[in-house]
Amino acid sequence: MKHVGKLKLNYICTGCGSCEVICPVNAIKLGLDFDFYTPKVDNELCVSCNKCLNICPGLEINNKKLSQKFLAINVQHKSDYILGNYISNYIGYSNNSSLRFNAASGGIASHLLLFLLKNNYIDAAIVTKMDEKNPLMTKSIIAHSREEIINAKTSKYCPTSPITALKKVKAQKKNNKKYAFVGLPCQIQGLRKLQENDEWFKNNIIFTIGLLCSHSVKYSGTRVILDRLDFRKNKVRQIQYRGQGWPGQLNIEAEKTKTSIPLDEYWESYFASYFFTPYRCITCHDLMAELADISLGDAWLNEIIEKDDKGSSIMISRTEFAEKIIKEMKNKNSITAYKINTEKIKESQKEIIMRRKGAFKYRIELLDFFNKPRPKYEDHSLEEIKNDSTKIKLKSYFGSFLIYLSAFLGSTLLGELLIKKTSTRLLKKWSFFIYKFGGRKYHSD
Ligand SMILES: Cc1cc2nc3c(=O)[nH]c(=O)nc-3n(C[C@H](O)[C@H](O)[C@H](O)COP(=O)(O)OP(=O)(O)OC[C@H]3O[C@@H](n4cnc5c(N)ncnc54)[C@H](O)[C@@H]3O)c2cc1C
Ligand code: SF4
Ligand code: SF4
Ligand code: SF4
Repeated sequence: MKHVGKLKLNYICTGCGSCEVICPVNAIKLGLDFDFYTPKVDNELCVSCNKCLNICPGLEINNKKLSQKFLAINVQHKSDYILGNYISNYIGYSNNSSLRFNAASGGIASHLLLFLLKNNYIDAAIVTKMDEKNPLMTKSIIAHSREEIINAKTSKYCPTSPITALKKVKAQKKNNKKYAFVGLPCQIQGLRKLQENDEWFKNNIIFTIGLLCSHSVKYSGTRVILDRLDFRKNKVRQIQYRGQGWPGQLNIEAEKTKTSIPLDEYWESYFASYFFTPYRCITCHDLMAELADISLGDAWLNEIIEKDDKGSSIMISRTEFAEKIIKEMKNKNSITAYKINTEKIKESQKEIIMRRKGAFKYRIELLDFFNKPRPKYEDHSLEEIKNDSTKIKLKSYFGSFLIYLSAFLGSTLLGELLIKKTSTRLLKKWSFFIYKFGGRKYHSD
């Protein structure tokens, strides 16, 4: 019997949930395994149809082919190795000052959804919020109202699975409602593969918002922070990873106490060094959500950082529909957005790009060397790195090894304990060490 449950999911699975949605006999259920979502398959129910294997973006993804199909490439499109196919790039923010202040960056994702809903382009949006009943966990919902969309604002630096919310949408297939979807690049990949296989999803999910993604963080990341802050004794009521201005802060509220830590403080100490990163993220190259209608990220540009404490987003628009909505929102004064060139987008993400499109091929080679399973990318050849100088090769293999070592350390109880006991000053030094060796100047395929 062959199904996704038989894969070495550690190296393959992004936790996207597409397999759960496609399975015709409901044999698959996404569940937490070592603090990350993976599919559990009921062998008794499985009818060996292979659908889950064919749809799995963790196993195989070809962004080049899928973007031809879903972005309706035409003469307006430009193609770039780092950005993917796109029409225009912008910097922008929501003109609703409260939304902008409380969102992750410029509040563009939430405001786009509010605009689509208000103007009847969509009937609902699939978004991800923190779960009120279980405040450390997330819950993806089909938001029908303004309040629900606003409630789901800001980034969640822990496992999420918005595609599984599509199961409910699928159950109502007879309706002809239109939906928007917000997700990480791998979740947009999973959605596109679902849409390739199912006309209803193709016709009814009409707009996708992709969030730029450096890497995901397992639940153990949040657990370590809470333990360090001695929050274990208290019942945590609410966690918010970003918001309250830009770059924002982690806010934790417990029964009797609350605290906040600035983003750069906790990200650099605990998350930047890949301690709690799923292995699959280490071989992922899709930083910019190349298959989304619009991709959004933080505007990490010196000129913005110096003067902006409310939040600005970089926006990569990839479809004519995205262009039309941006134009309408600007005309109605809902958002401020101005065009920028591709180099500015790259400048805003330059360190991350070096670790992703720059160096991911070395990490794939390491997996090949140790005979581990890895994702298949037909649109990316490993040949390019063969021309690197010996110095670059040694540095890149060493950097790749460090990243895997960090992820391995964070996945063991002893490692967790060590991270909890190490000073944040040393943890940050480790992050800078990883940054120094983990990246490589990128070239095009
Ligand atoms: C794990 C992660 C890594 C990121 N890495 C980078 C990066 O390297 N560089 C960069 O520039 N930007 C990165 N971002 C994106 C950035 O943090 C903002 O999400 C983005 O700029 C949009 O901001 P906004 O204010 O427009 O969104 P908001 O208006 O705050 O809305 C955010 C929307 O995203 C949805 N959402 C939030 N978190 C998740 C999640 N984990 N999974 C699925 N949906 C979610 C929410 O439901 C909401 O609808 C990352 C985001 C995440 C979640
Ligand atoms: S990557 Fe997605 S489709 Fe593949 S096994 Fe994991 S959850 Fe299922
Ligand atoms: S092979 Fe088919 S029936 Fe079996 S788990 Fe996968 S999708 Fe479900
Ligand atoms: S790095 Fe890639 S695989 Fe990991 S969460 Fe981000 S988009 Fe998904």
